Amino acid sequence: MLDIIKLLPDSVANQIAAGEVIQRPASAVKELMENALDAGATQIDLIVKEAGKSMIMVVDNGCGMSETDARMCFERHATSKISRAEDLFAIRTMGFRGEALASIAAIAQVELKTRRKEDEVGTKIIIEGSVVKDQSLVPMQTGTTFTIKNLFFNVPARRNFLKSTQAEMRHIVEEFTRVTLMNPEIGFTLNSDGKEVYHLYPGNLKQRIMGLFGSNYEEKLLPVRQETDRVCIDGYIVKAEFAKKTRGEQYFFVNKRFIKHAYLHHAIENAYLEMIPKDSFPGYFLNIEVDPADIDINIHPTKTEVNFLDVKLVYAILHAAVRKAIGQHNLSPMIDFDESPELNNDFGSALGMSKPLTIPNVPMDPNFNPFRKESSPRETHWVGSYQPQRNTPSDDWRILYGERTDQPSENSETKEATSNNQYLQVNQSYIVTTVKSGMLVIDQHLAHTRVLFEKFLKELENHNGLSQQELFPQALSLNVNDASLIKEMLPDLENLGFVLEQANPTTYMVMGTPSDAAGCDSVALLEKILDNYKINRSDLQLDRKLNLAKTMAVQLAIKPQTRLSEMEMQNLVDQLFACNVAEVAPNGKKIYVILNMEDLFK
Ligand code: ADP
Ligand code: MG
Repeated sequence: MLDIIKLLPDSVANQIAAGEVIQRPASAVKELMENALDAGATQIDLIVKEAGKSMIMVVDNGCGMSETDARMCFERHATSKISRAEDLFAIRTMGFRGEALASIAAIAQVELKTRRKEDEVGTKIIIEGSVVKDQSLVPMQTGTTFTIKNLFFNVPARRNFLKSTQAEMRHIVEEFTRVTLMNPEIGFTLNSDGKEVYHLYPGNLKQRIMGLFGSNYEEKLLPVRQETDRVCIDGYIVKAEFAKKTRGEQYFFVNKRFIKHAYLHHAIENAYLEMIPKDSFPGYFLNIEVDPADIDINIHPTKTEVNFLDVKLVYAILHAAVRKAIGQHNLSPMIDFDESPELNNDFGSALGMSKPLTIPNVPMDPNFNPFRKESSPRETHWVGSYQPQRNTPSDDWRILYGERTDQPSENSETKEATSNNQYLQVNQSYIVTTVKSGMLVIDQHLAHTRVLFEKFLKELENHNGLSQQELFPQALSLNVNDASLIKEMLPDLENLGFVLEQANPTTYMVMGTPSDAAGCDSVALLEKILDNYKINRSDLQLDRKLNLAKTMAVQLAIKPQTRLSEMEMQNLVDQLFACNVAEVAPNGKKIYVILNMEDLFK
């Protein structure tokens, strides 16, 4: 009998392994750019032809390589970044597997030119399909230039699987974006088929976002920053009103590495609460710095997944940080942190605990002006290395606690509507009035829903809902389960102005109703509240209150097809623009549109 097991030749093994690391031109772009970053470059230029199918070139001004290293770097498991297994748990650089260059060299024609500062000349190496074709000395500047030609030239199956040039270019731009976002202090350019696509100057993160996505992002961004002794979160989120229908601009990094993490993504999305319509997505650019020992990044060949030792803790801090950012933006009453367990001074131990609701008594900053432009410290980009710092959250959060802003939404355009005395009702559903720049059209039902929603939230918090006594109390008869749910909700219902008396274990008499519910069927209203409570059951007190306020608001708001007097319209518009969030209803729908003069001309 013959033995049948053979060792594959290196070149074949390399080709197979290459498939794991390099799936398309964009993967090579990512690896080369990350190497340039690791080499300490301050300027990195990417030049591609035919979306990298015919050529990818990365030019950096980093540390360069010695003649020997230039040869070595193409060997599998050749890396300058780790030497012991323990190093794996302390990785700060992008690379560490030492496979990228070996993989690329296995499936393309590669030219490397590199020179260290201390060397007089540089080294040039040409390698094709893992075979060194030429090596020579070249005069050049300090740094490294990799030129990759004809990716997959020797793996036709893969080459045939490449997508259209457009599609591959999208992948390249995406990788370029991920790398450049987290390195705003470094200059980058991207040139495609002779055209400059991006020219990114060194700056801070905000400037980098604007460089990548457009200068109109200036007004769209909200800074997020939260430091605890275990985690440091830094970056920007996009204001709710600029949420998009596509899941585009969602960039989440861990130690500056782009990461996909559905659970943590949820932490961010969830923090927007009811401010974004169901079919829209919030944008964000957030980095989490953690001690490398607290994560495991080595679980995926392309390293876009990560395991956290304590993912719940990260979830809570991330969620709270995003909420805080939104809260500072509009100081809306829905940002009610006192009941979020994650906001205790000791983030870790408080997780999962739910405290009874108490109205916090926290010092406020009387000088805080929610409409003042962000001062510069918030705009600064994060530092690269992990610097644990103890920071008592209560300092940062104090402006959110209990503080009421009496200032209406700072929108001079819409505020002006309130002093205008011409109101017109269209189709008994829309209120039309004029503003400086054109015509304001308001959905009366959505507007009133927003007004009531904010009112109810305040009442829930301040326990001061007004009650109106029922002359003929109705009975609310329930099954055992529902009766116990009502019991759960009783304190909140009372805060809103309901007065319920338990007649027997399953029956309550409605003795009083919130004054805003005067004249409506209070039993039907309570049944509706109960229904929604069951559908949206949540362990979070905050979510329960939001849910309750929302249900009440939707039920009690003026319906479409209701005639309003001029006075009523004016009142409603005044109240709307006194709201903290006048733009969107609790279900995320836009409340009004402004048709500007240009639109009107057309
Ligand atoms: P890794 O990045 O995981 O170490 P690579 O195959 O990407 O593995 O690179 C191998 C080695 O080649 C790196 O560890 C580094 O020492 C060297 N190297 C690669 N690219 C550059 C560059 N642009 N400048 C300087 N050294 C580089
Ligand atoms: Mg690398």
